[in-house]
Amino acid sequence: MTKRLSVFTPAKINLYLQAYEEKLPDDFHRLETVYQTIDLFDQLSFELSSITEKHSEIKLSVSPAPQSHLVPLDGRNLAYRAARLFFDKTQITHKKININIAKKIPVSGGLAGGSTNSAGTLYALNYLFGEPLEQEDLLRLCLELGSDVPFCFLGGTMLGTGRGDLLTRLNLSLDYTFVLVFPPSDLELSSKQVYASFDELNKKSQPEIKIEKFMEILLTKGDVSKYLFNSLEEAVIHLSYWVETAKSAIDSRGFTSLVSGSGPSVFTIAPNEMTARQLLKQLANDGFKASIHRPIDNSFQIIVH
Ligand code: ATP
Repeated sequence: MTKRLSVFTPAKINLYLQAYEEKLPDDFHRLETVYQTIDLFDQLSFELSSITEKHSEIKLSVSPAPQSHLVPLDGRNLAYRAARLFFDKTQITHKKININIAKKIPVSGGLAGGSTNSAGTLYALNYLFGEPLEQEDLLRLCLELGSDVPFCFLGGTMLGTGRGDLLTRLNLSLDYTFVLVFPPSDLELSSKQVYASFDELNKKSQPEIKIEKFMEILLTKGDVSKYLFNSLEEAVIHLSYWVETAKSAIDSRGFTSLVSGSGPSVFTIAPNEMTARQLLKQLANDGFKASIHRPIDNSFQIIVH
């Protein structure tokens, strides 16, 4: 019998991201970041069946989307890697899993598209097989897949320290309206390129307020829109003129823009839905693809077929 399940995996943005020059023993920069999941989802559809072959098989497809050709379909795909890790860890044999990814999250956009797909795959497989792994085991596997994969598994608003993997939930239900500008589909920036450019900067930008103060404002439901910070932003601007133009299209209209993660996606917090819509129109007139998003307090949404 074939079992089916769909999981919607959300994108994340970083409301605050301080990367320190100091490197951790594993050569990653030490980070302090506030992550937020938003209502922009890839849809992952899973079809599970039995096979006679002992070694469990994984088959992956990516639905047509302007960027689907940028997503690898083999062992380099993070969803594929998650599925392989799950079968290895659980030693489940004689199964075949078909995974289709319908991409809405821009690839290499700084929105953790691949990471959220891999976290969602672990979640889906664990669900389909009757939860053989505890959440703690799953989070350990997440970390093997990437620094921000544990956050993608948990979702909501979280403080991330270490390499972004040591997580503390900030129990908030934020009521922000984000306007997110999508990079053109031919603009790809890898985190590796961005960190290399960050390393080369002589003078790194410093935040107006420290992360403790930023979180205090969040926790008291204050307005953080003027204090959004990302120490990688300068490096990203250095690598992409598009980012500079997207930022000035937002900032010139009285908003404060920020690059998310290692970019190049750019976002801002609008005071309300109406101003967000106005900004959206102006950005569209300038030739930018943008949309309005809301924070979500958790991670995956699932549909059992
Ligand atoms: P992060 O914010 O975690 O740095 P990102 O959003 O900038 O990530 P991704 O969309 O995760 O970047 O893509 C980074 C790279 O991973 C790309 O080269 C892409 O081809 C590859 N990749 C592997 N698996 C996936 C996947 N399931 N979806 C998207 N990209 C994937």
